[in-house]
Amino acid sequence: MKCTIQGCPGEYEARTVVHTVKHRGDVIVIDHVPAEVCSVCGDVLLTPETVRRIEALLQATPPPSRNVPLYEFA
Ligand SMILES: [Zn+2]
Repeated sequence: MKCTIQGCPGEYEARTVVHTVKHRGDVIVIDHVPAEVCSVCGDVLLTPETVRRIEALLQATPPPSRNVPLYEFA
C-alpha cells in the first residue's frame, strides 16, 4: 500500500513496532505491535483491530511482563 504522507514515495510493509501510549497519566510501552510501517518515512499505521486490541489490553491493565527505564528528554 502506498504511503499516505503527501509527497512520500514509500510503501507500507508489515512490521512489528514498539507502540507507546499514555494511559491514565502513565506512559505504557507495548512491544511487538503489528503495524504497517512506511519503508521511506517510517510512518506507522495501526489497523482498527489492533487499536481495539490495545484498548482492551489497557482496560484489563495486567501487570507488565517487563519493566523498562523511561527517560525524559529534558
Ligand atoms: Zn512514507
